[in-house]
Amino acid sequence: MAAIGFIGLGNMGGPMARNLLKAGHSLKVFDLSVAAVEGLTAAGATKAASASDAARDVEFVVTMLPAGEHVRSVYLGEGGLIASANKGTLFIDSSTIDIPSARETIAAAEAAGMMMVDAPVSGGVGGAEAGTLTFMVGGTEAAFQKAKPVLEKMGKNIFHAGAAGNGQVAKVCNNMILGISMIGVSEAFVLGERLGLDAQTLFDISSTASGQCWSMTSYCPVPGPVPTSPANRNYQPGFTAGMMLKDLRLALEAAKTAKSPIPLGGQAAQLYALMEAAGEDGLDFSGIIKLIRGDL
Ligand code: NAD
Repeated sequence: MAAIGFIGLGNMGGPMARNLLKAGHSLKVFDLSVAAVEGLTAAGATKAASASDAARDVEFVVTMLPAGEHVRSVYLGEGGLIASANKGTLFIDSSTIDIPSARETIAAAEAAGMMMVDAPVSGGVGGAEAGTLTFMVGGTEAAFQKAKPVLEKMGKNIFHAGAAGNGQVAKVCNNMILGISMIGVSEAFVLGERLGLDAQTLFDISSTASGQCWSMTSYCPVPGPVPTSPANRNYQPGFTAGMMLKDLRLALEAAKTAKSPIPLGGQAAQLYALMEAAGEDGLDFSGIIKLIRGDL
């Protein structure tokens, strides 16, 4: 059993922290939202007075924050987590953030004699609740090995993706595939529909043929073929179009730095941005089919 500080108790962090409590760890928690903190103290966690207080006298600190600016502001500088924690504390940042912020924060932690990994996740709120997240971890082998037993209480698949920041690299690459493939599947189902092909028939054929992919078989954007997909509940998320857009914008930034062309990733970002402009970025990202059908 370890003493863990947990900062960022939102849609993802809340259930992740609960799973650490269930595993018998003791948790000191902090969030700007009082309600989020109360949810966790009711489950047995101790309330910290601030983020830096949550990082004091613990062995591990887990953060699950919205974006790079939040991670930098919480970790860096006087009164930041790195300055406040005991020597030897291991930091695990599971937020999805830009690669330079991840690398800068880990370098600052290492310069202060701490260990840190970036460990973004895939699997959404359902995976966070069930403790079945996939973690993509960047950092030294020693930091990865130390973080792994903690991550295993929140996830099922824990991958070491390489050096600092590589967890974020894996995350943007994976989500770019997902964002693009969902658009491809959506275009095909709308085209099939307009040419007189029933969605279930197209699903039966393509899900066993070369068009098969996760966006079709696990998250089909039309209601019917995959009963658990958001299409069956009016595209309530799941994983919102707004979050997909955030990840595609991170991919675009990263591609610019790497001078790597991502023409389809760029197009995909623009299509999800149209959902945002229509005020529909709170829908699940598979709701992109509504845009393609002309319903937005
Ligand atoms: P969220 O907005 O629900 O939660 C973020 C929490 O951080 C909020 O409770 C907020 O109050 C808190 N916070 C912000 N700034 C803070 C600060 N300075 N100090 C303390 N707390 C602070 O977001 P989420 O859905 O839980 O996502 C968290 C991260 O996980 C994001 O980077 C997101 O991209 C990533 N992610 C989300 C999903 C998903 O399906 N929701 C899936 C994979 C990855």
